[in-house]
Amino acid sequence: MFGEVHLEFTMSKARQLEGKCCSLVGMKVLQKATRGRTAGIFSLIDTLWPPAVTLKTPGRDQPCEEIKTHLPPPVLCYIFTAQPCLGQIDIIDGDPISNLYQPPVTRCLRDILQMNDLGTRCSFYARVIYQRPQLKSLLLLEQREIWLLVTDVTLQTKEESDTRLPKTLLVYVTPLCVLDSEVLEALAGTAPHSIFFKDALRDQGRIVCAERTVLLLQEPLLSVGSGVSSCELPGPVTLDSLDSATPVNSICSVQGTVVGVDESTAFSWPVCDRCGNGRLEQRLEDRGAFSCGDCSRVVTSPVLKRHLQVFLDCRSRPQCRVKVKLLQRSISSLLRFAASEDGSYEVKSVLGKEVGLLNCFVQSLTTHPTSCIGLEEIELLSAGGASAEHQQWPQGL
Ligand SMILES: [Zn+2]
Repeated sequence: MFGEVHLEFTMSKARQLEGKCCSLVGMKVLQKATRGRTAGIFSLIDTLWPPAVTLKTPGRDQPCEEIKTHLPPPVLCYIFTAQPCLGQIDIIDGDPISNLYQPPVTRCLRDILQMNDLGTRCSFYARVIYQRPQLKSLLLLEQREIWLLVTDVTLQTKEESDTRLPKTLLVYVTPLCVLDSEVLEALAGTAPHSIFFKDALRDQGRIVCAERTVLLLQEPLLSVGSGVSSCELPGPVTLDSLDSATPVNSICSVQGTVVGVDESTAFSWPVCDRCGNGRLEQRLEDRGAFSCGDCSRVVTSPVLKRHLQVFLDCRSRPQCRVKVKLLQRSISSLLRFAASEDGSYEVKSVLGKEVGLLNCFVQSLTTHPTSCIGLEEIELLSAGGASAEHQQWPQGL
């Protein structure tokens, strides 16, 4: 019989209990869960089925033959909760790891993508190369949905002929997935990180971290499988090129010729040349000079930042309107010879210019009435940390 116990615990305490025989005191049944109504917990139980040791019928010493050969997966389990002030769980001393314990089976991303068992659980180790939203606040991260783009060595070094496999994979972390402070801190930072995803759910073309999925910054001490060192990437991360199969919420690389500028959304603003603060005050009494509240000084030569979206003609998507929201770096290089001293530029001077390869996040895809792709140029998490550019305006999906 399987059961789930709900307790008020820190994640580190819960991890100490993993694989151990424990005694439970002061529990009450919260719910009788059936496979039909509570699929989530049964997808987890299925990873532990059949049991690691042969089942015995109570009262008999010999394993029951019938149970050994026909093991229908359980259809019923109990969910327990601790009674206030009474509930307690303690590790029983003695055997360090229970022989009932089944360590997670680690798989590489290629194997996970090639399996067709949707709705089943999987465990893997992967490098996070991009994340949305990129929030600096742990509190905000805790309450929201997070999209992680991950990869591993098996996707990065896939055969050229194997076009069905993507080079990166989307992992959707729902608010139901409990993240410990260590993982939250890593996600709030800008350095790349490798995460062990334990018992994530396989979904159509993506992975979902929901209830009962555990994210760890390290490989667990006990695990079996092939993906152990798959995060050691052979070189810089490469992305799939934009093509007709590129899905929304994925990342891709794009190259093309500028055929238009979205003038309705183009704007520029001055930032402090010393600290990068974009909220400068303009002082009328000082003949319109800018001052920076962060540096407490007059900014005599502010740097001009821009918001610019361009339309590209892409050879990989000939019949499609491809719109890209560019990063500052790309905007500067595009306008290097086009902008005049006051910051203005002629739209026609940027037309026909080649851009790319740009790493982009696919924000939107429409096929009706015309085929359009909305891309946002992104900076992948890299060893040097993401650029300060991301902090210029809040990003959401
Ligand atoms: Zn400043």
